[in-house]
This record gives sequence, structure tokens and C-alpha cells, in this order.
Amino acid sequence: MSGNITFTMIKPGAVADGHIGAIMAKIAEGGFKFKAVKMFRLSKEQAESFYAVHSARPFFNSLVASMSSGPIIAAVLENENAVLAYRDFIGATNPADAKEGSIRKLYGTSIESNAVHGSDSDENARIEANFFFSSMEQF
Ligand code: ADP
Ligand code: MG
Repeated sequence: MSGNITFTMIKPGAVADGHIGAIMAKIAEGGFKFKAVKMFRLSKEQAESFYAVHSARPFFNSLVASMSSGPIIAAVLENENAVLAYRDFIGATNPADAKEGSIRKLYGTSIESNAVHGSDSDENARIEANFFFSSMEQF
């Protein structure tokens, strides 16, 4: 059975471009409830750890630099079938391929600076939420 919790970040580029409010409003309009929200700046080491699964990819160093370049908004979201529903909602990884009206289409500026993160499994949603928030029990 799929869970009702996912984890998202508004990435540094979208925060720097002034899109926090618009993106959070869109997430809420999409039917996702905010269970926890935090503004946070990842260190280089924390960004490396968060994206460790991509450490062998050619874009890893650039991704880590970009994700630690300024503050992010971290949030835990609740909805039915949250992980898949949210990934569908935000659009494809590359904003150029993301569906019209999606957050990544509207606010992403490149495949790397694609406005938001969305967990890819229930297990990773838990791990990622616990990375930023002290205890998932509160959700
Ligand atoms: P998603 O965020 O859609 O789950 P991935 O897990 O494949 O995508 O990649 C993680 C993040 O790495 C992406 O959101 C994006 O910021 C970055 N990324 C992915 N592919 C590329 C690429 N080819 N070039 C640069 N950055 C990339
Ligand atoms: Mg991913």
C-alpha cells in the first residue's frame, strides 16, 4: 500500500528568484497539506549526503554546489498516494519536458535548477523528512 506522506524542497534557485510564496500556494491548491515546513541552508556535505545516490553521475558536483548555494524550503506534505501524486504534480525532471502549468515548467530554469525536489518512494520520503525534521512521529 502506498503512503500518504512525501518530502519536498523548494530549491535555492527558485527561492532566490522569489518564488517561495507562489510555489507553496500551488502545492496547497494541488491538494497537498503542509505537515512541516522549514527554511534551511544545506552545507556542501549535507547536499552530498542528501544526493549520495547520484554521486557517480557527471552532474553530481554541480548539483551539490547548486543545492548548497543558498537557502531552501524543506517541507513534509500529506495527500493520498503522496509520493506518486506529488511527482506527477511537479512535472518531469527537465522543466523543458514538464507538463504545462506544473511547478517545474513554471519555475524551473534548467534540468539542474528545476525548482523543487520530490521523494521517489515512501521509504525515501521517510528518510528525507527525518534528514530535516527531528521526528516523523509528529506527522
Ligand atoms: P528527480 O528530482 O526528478 O527525482 P533525479 O533523482 O534523477 O530527478 O535527479 C536529482 C536531481 O539532480 C534533479 O532534480 C536535478 O536537480 C538534478 N539532475 C538530474 N539530472 C540532471 C542532469 N542531466 N544534469 C544536471 N542535473 C541533473
Ligand atoms: Mg529523484
